Amino acid sequence: MRTLLTRTAIIACGVLSMAFGNPSGLSAQETSSGKQGFDQATESDVTLCQGYWQTEREAREQLKRFARTYDNAEQWQRRADKIRTQILRGMRLDPLPRRTPLNATISNKRSYEGYTVESVAFESRPGFLVYGSLYRPIDGPDLQAGILCPHGHARGPRGGRLRPDHQQRCATLARMGATVLSYDMVGFGDSEFLGWSHDHPQVMALQTWSSIRAIDFLESLGNVDSERLAVTGASGGGTQSFLLTAIDERIDVSVPVVMVSAHFFGGCDCESGKPIHKTPSLETNNVEIAACCAPRPTLLVSVGGDWTKNTPDVEYPYLRKVYRLFDKESLVENQHFPDEDHGYELPKRQAMYPFLVKHLKLDAKGVIDPTSGRFDESANTIETIETMRVFASAEQLPKGALKPGSKITF
Ligand SMILES: [Zn+2]
Repeated sequence: MRTLLTRTAIIACGVLSMAFGNPSGLSAQETSSGKQGFDQATESDVTLCQGYWQTEREAREQLKRFARTYDNAEQWQRRADKIRTQILRGMRLDPLPRRTPLNATISNKRSYEGYTVESVAFESRPGFLVYGSLYRPIDGPDLQAGILCPHGHARGPRGGRLRPDHQQRCATLARMGATVLSYDMVGFGDSEFLGWSHDHPQVMALQTWSSIRAIDFLESLGNVDSERLAVTGASGGGTQSFLLTAIDERIDVSVPVVMVSAHFFGGCDCESGKPIHKTPSLETNNVEIAACCAPRPTLLVSVGGDWTKNTPDVEYPYLRKVYRLFDKESLVENQHFPDEDHGYELPKRQAMYPFLVKHLKLDAKGVIDPTSGRFDESANTIETIETMRVFASAEQLPKGALKPGSKITF
């Protein structure tokens, strides 16, 4: 067991992550530079579990140790409460900050076949803006399910929220009657365009708090059903999904994709750069964090080509055991694709859609092909980056917007 993560180990995690082509972690250069910042002095002696922190065998042994700490739902709930507290303390979000005005703007409505897209910005902290795209059905129900779609670390000219496969997911869910919010990570999409870097010392707290405020934003719209809220994302977006689900019970359904792993903790500081997994009082991992969803419905989507390759034999059985304590084993599912690689491509979306249709009571008519049972994305429109920009330049930002890289007060 490692007690301290060295700089070399962090770099190694980033490099190993890259082996999967579309990694949860950043490049070695980006990951290795993430340790400088405001909290440097106090973080010199914490235990961080990052990247491939333990072997697959160690991970199996660790889960066995964890499983011996509870025998019934009540005991698990006590453990889950400790896990939640540790996540929030590790990120320095304990106690949770005061909810400040979102000052949300919704603009530039575009109409497509069965849905609309609008540009959104809101302040998750005073002056700290979150940028996104809001997908809504045309002629949708009066009260709509709400779905958050965080994205992963894929970059390039069409990375993050701008990725075509990300747009497909949001548009298809909207066409089935849901209000869907797709929002930038720090230093991606509009956030990057306006000067912010993902290499921000508070990146994990900023993104997690922004996800909490994203639920507030959905609820502020007035027609989103607070009993039908979901989150789904892949890779780094999968990490955001299970972290949010663990700490915010408003999430009713969770679909973390290609990320819940017993031996891999995420290679980026926004996933594992704070001591949320191991402290002197509690040791846990991302399988248990995902299990904090219990007894709410959750679907693990896993593949043979990354760190979720063992899910049917390791991670999924652990979650089933937790759900069994609530007599809700049927609410946890796994869809495993042994020949697929890391990402949220069409086969994985085809696995997610029916799960959300079932648990959010979406209307798949006109989207599902009655003959093949496949969900048809061909009616969706893939937008250009220029169309998706929330602000064309920094000059258009609201008064009081913080300068890129600012320290955020919680
Ligand atoms: Zn990150």
